[in-house]
Amino acid sequence: MNRQESAGREALVVDPEAHAREIARFLRRVVRRPATDAADPAAMTCAIWTGAIGDDGYGRFSVTRDGRERTVKPHRYAVALALGLAVEAGQVIEHVVCDNPVCVHADPDPMVGHIWPSTQSENLARMQAKGRGQRWWLRRWSGLARAERAERSRQLAAAVRDGWDDDAVRAVLLRIDPAQATLF
Ligand SMILES: [Zn+2]
Repeated sequence: MNRQESAGREALVVDPEAHAREIARFLRRVVRRPATDAADPAAMTCAIWTGAIGDDGYGRFSVTRDGRERTVKPHRYAVALALGLAVEAGQVIEHVVCDNPVCVHADPDPMVGHIWPSTQSENLARMQAKGRGQRWWLRRWSGLARAERAERSRQLAAAVRDGWDDDAVRAVLLRIDPAQATLF
């Protein structure tokens, strides 16, 4: 993004007090995996945005700042909220752990969060690679064309909209038709 494009675009700030109602509206659209046991904490999986999803596969969330409505990507909103950062318009926010465009799992704990500003992402990816084994939900998105990514994002959101469902999430990420999975 060049200087001209970013001019007039404010950094995204999410204030826990001033934006409390907006945050509640945001969180109602996020589905997390319930914790099972300490060895497999819910903290390890993606948190999935189930609101609007654009043709790029990323979510859309509407906020109002200075009386003007603007649309932001939920993973950027999640980083502003969880990390307490002002997310600049041109700042790259990466899904370091999962590649999942509808994942909004931001967390200040470097071993837990999936989304980070690109300035921190390399170190964190290295740390996390050491700290955890391969997980089935990781890295299922690279190489997808834009339309496929958007379709998969929408399928994933639909899979958890009525509550987290491990089998449904796995089916979308592994591209296995649940009806066929029972054949094996
Ligand atoms: Zn994730």
